Amino acid sequence: MVKGKFPGDPLPLTKIEVDTDSHLKIQEDQRCHRCLNKPCTSVCPAQVFEWEEKHIRVNYPRCVECGACRLICPEANILMEYPRGGMGLAYRY
Ligand code: SF4
Ligand code: SF4
Repeated sequence: MVKGKFPGDPLPLTKIEVDTDSHLKIQEDQRCHRCLNKPCTSVCPAQVFEWEEKHIRVNYPRCVECGACRLICPEANILMEYPRGGMGLAYRY
């Protein structure tokens, strides 16, 4: 079982086949620079996005494919596709 990283972490309830390529991409770092609250870092239930001084780090293997980041980004800066067939998320329960 995957160990949780924080209280409420959904990953222990999942099985994720990690693809070699990320299904999540930040289009332009500049848009993140002018984004004041960086809501992707707080809304994602799996804490995929982290601000690292000059850019958003995307820890895509943790993604539980909820789609919230696409809706919440005020700059429409997150490209999200679903992983290829057989890859990505499966729920254990
Ligand atoms: S919400 Fe969008 S624009 Fe803001 S920091 Fe995250 S990816 Fe960048
Ligand atoms: S789809 Fe959901 S879990 Fe995946 S990065 Fe976006 S908000 Fe996080």
